Amino acid sequence: MAYAADTSTNCHWRPYRRTRRRVFMSSPSRFGLALLLTLYAGLAFCDEETPVLATASPASDVASADAVPAAGVAETVIDTDTASGVEAPDAGLPPPWGPLLILDHEVLPGSKSAFLLTEDQNFDSSFVNSSVWVVRGISGGPALCLTAGIHGDEINGVEIARRVYSSLDPAEMSGTVVILPMINLAGIRSGERYMADRRDLNRLFPGRRDGSLSSIVAGSVFKVVSSHCQALIDLHTGSFSRLNIPQIRVTVDRPSALDMARHFGSGVVVLGDGPKGSLRREASDFGLDAIIYEAGGPHRFDPEAAQVGADGVRSVMAWMGILDTPGKTIAFNSVFRRTYWERVPLRGGGFFFPDVEIGARVKPGDRLGTIHAPGYEKETPIMARRAGTVIGMAVPQIVLSGYALFNIGIEGSDIFPGLMLQESSDPTAPEVDG
Ligand SMILES: [Zn+2]
Repeated sequence: MAYAADTSTNCHWRPYRRTRRRVFMSSPSRFGLALLLTLYAGLAFCDEETPVLATASPASDVASADAVPAAGVAETVIDTDTASGVEAPDAGLPPPWGPLLILDHEVLPGSKSAFLLTEDQNFDSSFVNSSVWVVRGISGGPALCLTAGIHGDEINGVEIARRVYSSLDPAEMSGTVVILPMINLAGIRSGERYMADRRDLNRLFPGRRDGSLSSIVAGSVFKVVSSHCQALIDLHTGSFSRLNIPQIRVTVDRPSALDMARHFGSGVVVLGDGPKGSLRREASDFGLDAIIYEAGGPHRFDPEAAQVGADGVRSVMAWMGILDTPGKTIAFNSVFRRTYWERVPLRGGGFFFPDVEIGARVKPGDRLGTIHAPGYEKETPIMARRAGTVIGMAVPQIVLSGYALFNIGIEGSDIFPGLMLQESSDPTAPEVDG
């Protein structure tokens, strides 16, 4: 599975299978010719109102820009649309490509650019404005959006976004990455999960221009994501004194999104639609392949989980065809159709200590943790009711009745037989931790 090339901000992205044939061009003039053909071919993919190609720089301008490799040997990829069995009109030509027009900025092929979500200079902006980082590959391909910091206390996602941006070389990319790395900027500065108006931003997408402050920010973010990207990875961590095993969450209704989730390559996949108003769910309903990656806990950097996340994003980029590097795949036995929580039983509160590690595989009756009631010499064991994998758990702390302690991913072929069936046909998928 791969994606159609990004032809403009308004073209609809279409998943399709493609064959790759490398073409080496020996001079900038041949690059310019290829680009002209590219711009012509791009019209076949776009809606009539598509503005970007029409406003793109003339081919000669682009060909002479910094984006052209100085070595004198440019490399591009020829794609052939084979999804329908009928050759597309541009068969044999390079995919359409040119500058990306985004938020009144022009990002040339082969360049990186950082700017603000809005250039307004006013009192409001100093609270809610945040960064946009764009990497435009040297040659055509799909666009991936990364979002982080929707919850201001979940800074590990912000670090993943930083690592991805700094690791990307546009000269090695076929496509575009658009990163919104610190969306709840005020919350990131103050360590607060929610927005300045005390709302949860991740329940307000797609946002409203005439809504609350958070709803306005949600609208600005959603417009960027829905206008410029074909796929989305939203970066989060566990919340409220809990740790999550690296996990990807994805709707079960979009096979291409599940495929994308598995190509994150590390951790486990948890199936589910997500809450109404969350960016992932609304982007998915809009038509994007959208996943969430969650790892580590809030309020601190977890370098190991951050690197797993950055590597996972790059693995998805490889799957999409943006990077020409090997990717990894999560095995089907690490895809969980259902999860459940083990909670503090009624009158069982006290000092909690876990007896298992995150990621442990447990069976019914296994002891997961212990709660000591101080001064009462009472000990409450927490036992697993079903077999599964501990994909999230509370850290040692004081807990009260009903507090969610262990999130267990339920295993078993009866849970999602379709997936298990596919697993047997994909024996080369490597096992991963989790
Ligand atoms: Zn979050």
